[in-house]
Amino acid sequence: MQKDQLIKALDKNNQVRVILARTTALVNEAADRHKTSATAAAALGRVITAALIMAADLKGERDMLTIRIDGNGPAGPIIASADAHGTVRALISNPQADLPSEQPGKLAVGELVGKEGFVEVIKDLGLRQPFIGKVELVSGEIAEDLASYYLKSEQTPSLVALGVMVAPDLQVISAGGLLVQAMPGADDELLAQLEENITQMEKLSAALEKTPQLEVLMEQIMKGIEYRLVGQQDLYFKCNCSFERLRNILSSLSEEEMNKMLNEEGQIEVVCNFCNEVYHYRAEDILKHKKASDTEV
Ligand SMILES: [Zn+2]
Repeated sequence: MQKDQLIKALDKNNQVRVILARTTALVNEAADRHKTSATAAAALGRVITAALIMAADLKGERDMLTIRIDGNGPAGPIIASADAHGTVRALISNPQADLPSEQPGKLAVGELVGKEGFVEVIKDLGLRQPFIGKVELVSGEIAEDLASYYLKSEQTPSLVALGVMVAPDLQVISAGGLLVQAMPGADDELLAQLEENITQMEKLSAALEKTPQLEVLMEQIMKGIEYRLVGQQDLYFKCNCSFERLRNILSSLSEEEMNKMLNEEGQIEVVCNFCNEVYHYRAEDILKHKKASDTEV
């Protein structure tokens, strides 16, 4: 399988920028961890890919970007958080939800996500307050919704394409995304050429499957345009949960609840919502921790 990766390009006059990402392996891992239906895998995969593309603009070591999409559809809210290092973690509230596809070859993502709601983008740049942008959903298809977000919230006209191809056995065959943004005053002819190139291309997920090199696909997107590659990043699914981190959740339980669970099961099980990793806590893990935090006070 091809490595998950993202590349960035700029035309020679810095009027348009293009980000192209392949996310097949990491979307596969997310779908596998969350045991998604085919349509839920596509919805989750698109949000994950969007988060990675948007996070590619983060500068700080510890900056985080989160996309939250809730369209009041059967999928429930979908959340993906990515960082400046190309890692992402994500969840879909109802991973098993599915809908029959109405058009052959097209999963009913928009219907599964719904469009009665909002897309929120939360940028945590280490400042006192995170930056939060929120716009109404257009279609629940994610790409259109992101384009609308860029236009309304960041005043940047953008073309966004997100594609996830899922096999009948639920294997993710191909996934990725494309972002094209025009700088203010960008040349009309240049934009027309880009649009023409992209219209000529086949569906993004199919193009990614057939083209092992992202650079080759970039050449097709930029055909007839002088450009240079300005960035490249490897991408991964990676959660930031840990035994210690999830143990803090237990402090929200009352002593009575905790003892009841420990007596019944001998241990308490906590599952990370973002990666489905299961952690087990025995009485001594909790006691030891409690003593440690008591002495800290
Ligand atoms: Zn986790």
